[in-house]
Amino acid sequence: MGKGITRRDVLKLSGLTLGGLAMGNTAVAGDCKAQPLDPTKRNDLIDSLPPFYPGKETLSPIEMRITFVGTSFLPRLAQECNSIFVEVGGGKNGEALDQFIFDCGSGVVAKYNALGIPMRKMDKIFLTHLHGDHMSDLTHIYLFGPAQDRKTPLYIWGPGPSGLTDPIDSHVYNDDGLNVFCQKFRDMLRWHTESFSFLSTSYQNYDPPTKADWGLPVNPLPIVPTIGPPDPTNADGYGVGGYSVVPIQLDWTKNGDKDNNIAYYNAATGVKITHFPMIHARKGSIGYKLEWKGMSMIFSGDSRPSYEMINQASGVNVLIHEMVVPAEVWAAKNLGYRTPSEAYSDPNFQSALTVANAVQASSHTPQGALGYILSQIQPPPKLAVATHFQATDDTIRSAFDSIRNHYPNGDVTIAADLMVLTVTANKVIKRKAVVNDYAWYPLAQLSDKLAEPKYHDDQGNMDPTAQIDQTELIPPGTDAKGNPTYDPSGY
Ligand SMILES: [Zn+2]
Ligand SMILES: [Zn+2]
Repeated sequence: MGKGITRRDVLKLSGLTLGGLAMGNTAVAGDCKAQPLDPTKRNDLIDSLPPFYPGKETLSPIEMRITFVGTSFLPRLAQECNSIFVEVGGGKNGEALDQFIFDCGSGVVAKYNALGIPMRKMDKIFLTHLHGDHMSDLTHIYLFGPAQDRKTPLYIWGPGPSGLTDPIDSHVYNDDGLNVFCQKFRDMLRWHTESFSFLSTSYQNYDPPTKADWGLPVNPLPIVPTIGPPDPTNADGYGVGGYSVVPIQLDWTKNGDKDNNIAYYNAATGVKITHFPMIHARKGSIGYKLEWKGMSMIFSGDSRPSYEMINQASGVNVLIHEMVVPAEVWAAKNLGYRTPSEAYSDPNFQSALTVANAVQASSHTPQGALGYILSQIQPPPKLAVATHFQATDDTIRSAFDSIRNHYPNGDVTIAADLMVLTVTANKVIKRKAVVNDYAWYPLAQLSDKLAEPKYHDDQGNMDPTAQIDQTELIPPGTDAKGNPTYDPSGY
């Protein structure tokens, strides 16, 4: 057992696992389901948490709930890419008063569905940077939201251009900021958005929020596209709707605290979100701090260890910070080994290690560095959560060792998908959501009268066949010669 691991940490790792480390085989657990004891294939830290039942528990007016929907840089069945969902209490019937997504990497929509989070609540997305493992599932959220119950725009916050020129030809400048990203995103998805526009994708009356409503850094909001001649199809033909994309581009050089630079401030709900620069891969990555009713949460996105984080995290309730496995672990796993010691003799190990070290040097926070950062934050966070980390019993134990060498006592955990935190002024409770692996979309709830669909008939009703050629179509019921074909009810 590592010298840095505390008794409390150990209690989180069940006896089964510790036995499994020695035995390396399979035991039969109480539920008669075979559980692998291999510490590279299980996560007792998350599986030992008490259950949280989504949809069965109200959110009180003094509670913030943070759900880890994706927690890894690489997508895998147990861990999708990065996303957290943050809700604040005080809404009608014990629902959230306001809610936000921070990052939405590959695969997270499956977990959002499993958690029963409807598309109408997935309309405010704060991106820390534009790496694929932080924004890939924007595509699904954007495209299928209007077919469900998000009939209002998708609001996307994120950093403006890095300002970097091309190293090969300094005359080449590619705008890599959020505004251009959103314009191209809107354009490249036109086949999908048009094809679904036989359904109503907007409300008859919808007023986009203003600076007064959301304290926005840009006002009025740019509804994509904003460049070029006016596009009558921009607003789905019927005002601002579900296929409108609204980029809220932030100046990544600004610091939320020092510059009073606000990404979002809603006087009605009391939620304030600021941003600050992080150090990751290329200029332009940012972290976010959400403050509400005297509580606060930081989501780092990706970063190398940063002094700014130590300043920002002073006294926060929850600090969610990225962390990376040691480079030699990364290299070994990428070569298909369980541990570095198994990989040392592989002729490809050194080159894999060189790459892993380079990734760390450009982009990420090592385990011990996170421990150091936590040790420097005064007062320390009530709970620190490491994420963006491939969490299994073997990597978790090593990470606790490294963190505890610097930060022996504070409350720390390591995120996995479906971990749910209930945050109140003085306490953070950790649980794991119990979900249905086979969930459909949650129940759609509309809040106003729908506008006419873009592809409609003379009566203004949807016209599902307006965009298809029916000449070779086999009709339901009977064909042109009166011969039976197939049952129109679908059975
Ligand atoms: Zn990442
Ligand atoms: Zn990244």
